[in-house]
Amino acid sequence: MTAVAQNPAMERELNPWLAAETRFDDAADRLSLDEGIRKVLRSPSREITVYIPVLLDDGRIEVFTGYRVQHSIARGPAKGGIRYAPDVTIEEVRALASWMTWKCAVANIPYGGGKGGVICNPTILSMGELERLTRRYTAEIIEFIGPEKDIPAPDMNTNEQVMAWMMDTYSMHMRQTTTGVVTGKPLDLGGSRGRPEATGRGCMIVTLEALKRFGIKPEDATVVIQGFGNVGGMAARLMARRGFNIVSIIEYDGAVYDANGLDIEALMTHRKETGSIVDFAGGEMIDRDEALAQKCDVLIPAAKENVITSLTAPKLKCRILTEGANGPTTAPADDILQDKGIFVIPDILANAGGVTVSYFEWVQDRQGFFWNEDLVNQRLEEIMVNGFRDVTAYGDKHKTNNRAAAYMLALDRVAFAIKLRGLYA
Ligand code: NAD
Repeated sequence: MTAVAQNPAMERELNPWLAAETRFDDAADRLSLDEGIRKVLRSPSREITVYIPVLLDDGRIEVFTGYRVQHSIARGPAKGGIRYAPDVTIEEVRALASWMTWKCAVANIPYGGGKGGVICNPTILSMGELERLTRRYTAEIIEFIGPEKDIPAPDMNTNEQVMAWMMDTYSMHMRQTTTGVVTGKPLDLGGSRGRPEATGRGCMIVTLEALKRFGIKPEDATVVIQGFGNVGGMAARLMARRGFNIVSIIEYDGAVYDANGLDIEALMTHRKETGSIVDFAGGEMIDRDEALAQKCDVLIPAAKENVITSLTAPKLKCRILTEGANGPTTAPADDILQDKGIFVIPDILANAGGVTVSYFEWVQDRQGFFWNEDLVNQRLEEIMVNGFRDVTAYGDKHKTNNRAAAYMLALDRVAFAIKLRGLYA
């Protein structure tokens, strides 16, 4: 039995759907949200479960379980990634779908929220098996997805190749190439420039806005980043170029530190060559928990969920917490961070750069006209800065912290859309 399983309070704290409900209820209470609208928004609009038969390479047939949850389509088509993992649960997918609704509303892009998942272990599937699984899953949910209905994207263990297969399967059924059915596609199949950097870039943009409030220049700011993957790696690269001092990078197998700022490009090369950040000559290895708790201006958890809990939050010594990952902070940890005076840029704002450039990809696909990278980045900056200003202004007006403000703003926007549309009976 794991430590979590032995501790029901911690198990509850780490449950993603309970975390989503806690934040929702808090924001709904603060807004005195109409009881009926609250009921509509508290539950997803649609949950689809499919059983996916796949022919394995050895001739056997295996049946996989897949989900697609559409939490809301009040402000536009559902939008959200698809993850492949052995431990995917419907509760997790439901929570992630609702987070997408709030994230798109905070960014003020015309989408609702959705998420999908397939219970499988992609590390033991061949490319052929993965392709057959992806195509059959797409076929099973085909009447529920589409550029005007629900637009999937990559998430954990899915990538642009998986999106290319999904797009092709959908297009074959529709008898026409429909690039706008998914985002996160390869550039040659209707993908957008700037998408790989978008989430990290968005994290940098909102961090720059937060620093202005503190009167700190980027070159005077120290930054610790957990996770050196797509989000954390890109944030590190872009922030280092912007003059920030990235003093520590934390990975699952170690943490590297240099008080004068790490050479991020050299660390990337080292990781590419060795597969790890460990033994990097340009810094000293330190304890991972210590690294997370060291004094710094900005901490960016960009690895996974439930990193900042009621146990770890008391130890943090950052001024600004930019949540690059989804759900890195548990609900009970929120109060601790507030008491410590840490300026939190919540995930539904901080990592919205990814879905924002996904939105740009969908717009470009539908126009059949593609933008250069400068235009993508300029429009991304506009949306992230507006999102930051809207959330902080909402927080100042309602005297709440940024997380509560972001949820309140999102609920307010979605509830308003529902009221305008009225209830179809
Ligand atoms: P990724 O797989 O590219 O990178 C994650 C990195 O974190 C990897 O390098 C991994 O080794 C590292 N890691 C894993 N466990 C760790 C641990 N315990 N301690 C330290 N490092 C650890 O994934 P990603 O796309 O960068 O996503 C990271 C987070 O950001 C996830 O929560 C994801 O849902 C969220 N997110 C991603 C995007 C996006 O556009 N990629 C958008 C929004 C949110």
